[in-house]
Amino acid sequence: MDFDYIINHLGEERENYFNAVSPPIIQSSNFAFDSIEAFREAISDERNKHIYTRGNNPTVQILRKKLAALEKTEDALVFSSGSAAIAAAIMSHAKNGDHVVCVRKPYSWTVKLLEDYLSKYGVSHTFVDGRSIDAIELAIEKNTTVLYLESPNTATFEIQDLRACAVLAQKHGIITMIDNSYASPIFQNPSDFGIDVIIHSATKYLNGHSDVVMGVVCASSKAIEKIFYEEFMTIGAIVSPHDAALAIRGLRTLKTRLLQIDQTTQKIIEFLSNHQSR
Ligand SMILES: *Cc1c(COP(=O)(O)O)cnc(C)c1O
Repeated sequence: MDFDYIINHLGEERENYFNAVSPPIIQSSNFAFDSIEAFREAISDERNKHIYTRGNNPTVQILRKKLAALEKTEDALVFSSGSAAIAAAIMSHAKNGDHVVCVRKPYSWTVKLLEDYLSKYGVSHTFVDGRSIDAIELAIEKNTTVLYLESPNTATFEIQDLRACAVLAQKHGIITMIDNSYASPIFQNPSDFGIDVIIHSATKYLNGHSDVVMGVVCASSKAIEKIFYEEFMTIGAIVSPHDAALAIRGLRTLKTRLLQIDQTTQKIIEFLSNHQSR
C-alpha cells in the first residue's frame, strides 16, 4: 500500500464527518445502540466495533489502521506508552515456567520487566549478543517461547539479522518480537523478514512532536486478538482519543522528518569522521 495514502487517507471516513480533513476526536466513553440485538452483535467483536473506549474508539481505530498498514501487518493496538506495549506483548506469550531470549542491552524498562518483574511470575530470560545467530540459538531452551529483538538497539545500536532470527525461531516454534522504534517503518518493516510482533514507542519517531507518550503493537489478527482479550482489556493501558488524534497528525509528517534526520545524520557522520582529535 502506498505510504502517502496510508498516512493521509487510510481509515478515515471523511464523508461521515463533514469532509473534515483532520479526523474528529470522538471523546466518548460509550456508544449507543438502537436495539439490544445490535448491541449483542457488537459485543461479540469488541476489538473492531465501537462499544466502550477501553476496547475501541473511532479516533483510535483510525490510528490503529494506519499503524498496521505502515508495518504491513493485519492489525495493531495502541497503548498508553511504549513500555505498556512491550509488557503486553511479552506477557501475552510468556507464562509461569516459560523462558524469553532477549538481545542484550534493550531499552532500560524492558530489562526491568524481564529481570525484576516477570521473574516474580516464574518467567526466566537470557540476554544474548544479538549480532551472533549462533549465540541466539545457544540461548534457546526447551521452554523458550519468545525471541525478543531490538534492531538497532537502544544506545549501542547493534543490529540483528532479522531474517535469520525469524527462520531460527520458526524452527524452534517460538514467536519473534521486535522493538522497531529506532528504525521506524520508514527504514525497516520487520514483517518483510518474517518477524511476528512489531512494537514501537510512538513517543519517539511515530508521533514525533514530543507531545504524546504512546506505544504500539502490530501483528497478525490472531496475535492481536489474543493480546486484546488478555493484556489489553485487563490492564487497560489505553490511549485517549485526543492523544490518538495528535499521533495521526504526527504521522502525517513521518516521512519528511525521518528523511531529514537521515540527511542530517549523514552530515554529522562525515563531520566526525574528518574530525582530528587533538
Ligand atoms: C522510549 C523507548 C521505549 C519506551 O517507550 P515509552 O513510550 O517511553 O514508554 C521503548 N523502546 C525504545 C527503543 C525507546 O526508545
